[in-house]
Amino acid sequence: MVSKPLGLQAAALMKNDLVNQPYDVVVIGAGLGGLLSAAHCLQRGMRVAVLERLAHCGGRFTAKTFQGAQVSTGAVHMLPFGSNGVLAGMLRRLAVPHYVHDAEVFASFFVHGRQYVCRSLLGVAAFLGARQFTRFLMLGPALLARRLPASERDLPFPAWLEKHHVTPDRSPELYAFFERISHFALSVPLEQMSAREVAETTKNMFRYGPPGVVEGGCAAVTGELERRLREQGVDLRLRHDVLRILTSDGEVTGIRVRDKATGVECVLQTPLVISNIGPNATMRLIAGAAGDQSTDVSSTFATFSDSGASRSPLREAVGLKTHVLSERSLIPHKGIMYCLDTERIAGIVQPSNCDARLAPPGKHLLITHQVMRSDDVEQERALAVADLRRIIGPAFERDCRILTMSQYRGEWPVNRAQQGGDFAPEIGVRGLYLVGDAIKPSGYLMVEGVAQSVNQMLDLLDQFDQRTAPQKVGQGQTVPVGNGKPMCVSHVPPKPRAARALYWLFAPPPPAKQERLQTPGKMP
Ligand SMILES: Cc1cc2nc3c(=O)[nH]c(=O)nc-3n(C[C@H](O)[C@H](O)[C@H](O)COP(=O)(O)OP(=O)(O)OC[C@H]3O[C@@H](n4cnc5c(N)ncnc54)[C@H](O)[C@@H]3O)c2cc1C
Repeated sequence: MVSKPLGLQAAALMKNDLVNQPYDVVVIGAGLGGLLSAAHCLQRGMRVAVLERLAHCGGRFTAKTFQGAQVSTGAVHMLPFGSNGVLAGMLRRLAVPHYVHDAEVFASFFVHGRQYVCRSLLGVAAFLGARQFTRFLMLGPALLARRLPASERDLPFPAWLEKHHVTPDRSPELYAFFERISHFALSVPLEQMSAREVAETTKNMFRYGPPGVVEGGCAAVTGELERRLREQGVDLRLRHDVLRILTSDGEVTGIRVRDKATGVECVLQTPLVISNIGPNATMRLIAGAAGDQSTDVSSTFATFSDSGASRSPLREAVGLKTHVLSERSLIPHKGIMYCLDTERIAGIVQPSNCDARLAPPGKHLLITHQVMRSDDVEQERALAVADLRRIIGPAFERDCRILTMSQYRGEWPVNRAQQGGDFAPEIGVRGLYLVGDAIKPSGYLMVEGVAQSVNQMLDLLDQFDQRTAPQKVGQGQTVPVGNGKPMCVSHVPPKPRAARALYWLFAPPPPAKQERLQTPGKMP
C-alpha cells in the first residue's frame, strides 16, 4: 500500500513543526491491541509507526518483576478461551512464539468453607445439591440451545434468572455461580449484564474451551510482539504522547506527537490511524483537530448490539486485584477458583501452577479479582483481606504475603467498555479505526475481544484498500468489496463447532495443537 500525497491543513501544522517521512499507518498505543494491529500491518507490507506514551509496551497486558514475582499491569496472565481462543489462533498465524497451559478442569468453587473441584460441568452438582442442580440443568437449554425470545434478550440477567425461578433467596449457590463468574471473568455486576450477552459469552466459553495461562505470563506475549516489531523495522517510539489526530475533509492526514523526554513535538503524516486508546480518548484527540468542520464524530458511535443503539458515554468495567505470595498451594489445578460466599473476592487463580517462574522458587503466586462495588477503596481493600482470611484460614497470617492490591478504573480500567456495551471500530473519520477492549464484539471477552477487534479492523482495512464504503461484516463471511472487484475473506475466523460444547459434560474440550516455536516465556 502506498501513501497518497497528503494535503495537510495549513492550520494543523505550526511553524517550525518537524514533519517526518510519511507512514502508511500510525498506531496510537502499544497495548496488546496496538501491537497485534502493527504486526498485521507489517505483514501487509506497510510502513508502520507505533507511539506509546509509557516507558514500556504491553499496556494492561504485561508485567513487572516485583519481589521475584511477575506482577501484571492488568490481566491475571489468563487467556479466556485458552489455546483454542481467538488470541492464541492469531499468535499462531503471526508465528509469535507462545505456549498456553489450558485448565484441566471446568473450575473449582469455594463455598461453605471448602473447595469443590469440578472437572466437568456436571461436577457442580456436588455443591448445588439436587434441587438447585435440577434447576441448573433446566436453564441450560433455555439459555444456550436456542436463540433467546425477543422479550427476554435485553432483560438484565437477574430478571431473566427470576423469570426462570432462580433468585438469591431460593437458589443462593446457583445465583452466586452466575454472579461470581460475571464478577471474575467480566468484572461486571450481574445486574448490568443483559441475558443476550450472558448467552453469547457462555456459548463461546463452552465452544472454544477452558481458559489458559500463557507461559511466561502476559509479558511474554507482548514482549515477543515488541521484539519482532522492532526487529522488522517498525518505528516503535516509547514515551511518545499523541496529542492530536489531524484530519482534513473528514479524512485522517496525520498525527501530532510529543516526545516526553525532550518535549519536542512533531507531525507524522499518514492516511491511516489505528487507535488502541479507546473511544473517549480518541474522540478527545480528534475533537481538537484544528478546524476540520467536516468531521462530526459525535453522532457516529454505534455498538455491535442488534438494536444499533448508541451508547455514549461508555461505561467501563472496574475492579480490584490482589497479588499474594503463598508458602502453600491453595488451588490444585490450572483454572479458576470461584468464591461463592465471600463478601467481595469473586475468584482466585494460581498461575504459578502453569509456570513456576511466575513466583519466586518454592512459592505460589495467587491473584484475586473482584468488582469494585463502591467508591470506597479502603473498604473494598479491607473486605478483600477479610475474604482472604476466611478462605485461607489461620495460615493466611503465617504463610501469605500481600504483594500488591490495586484498583483498576478511570484511565486504567479492567475494560474500557463493559462487556456488551462496546463500540464500533469506526467513528466517522475516514482512515481512522479503533481496536482494543472497548471494541469487543458480542460474546468475546477480555483479550479474546481485543484480538477479535483487530480482526474486525483488518476487514475494514481491506475495504479501505479497495476504496469502497465500509460495510458490516459477520463471522467468517466474505466481504463484498465493490462492483466487479474480487471478494476477500473476512479475517474474523469462524467459531468452533457448537458440538464441542458437549465435551464439558465429561471434561474440558481438548487443547489446540501447539508448537513451541522457540524457547517461550522468556522472562522480561
Ligand atoms: C485487573 C485486571 C485483570 C484482567 N485480567 C485479564 C485476564 O486475565 N485475561 C484477559 O484476557 N484480560 C484481562 N484483563 C483485561 C485486559 O488486560 C485488557 O482488556 C487488555 O490488556 C486491553 O488491551 P488494549 O490493547 O485494548 O489496551 P491497553 O493495554 O490499555 O493499551 C493502550 C495503550 O495506549 C497507551 N496510550 C494511551 N493514550 C495514549 C496517547 N495519547 N499516546 C500514546 N499512547 C497512549 C497506553 O499507555 C496503553 O499502553 C484484565 C484487566 C485488568 C485491569
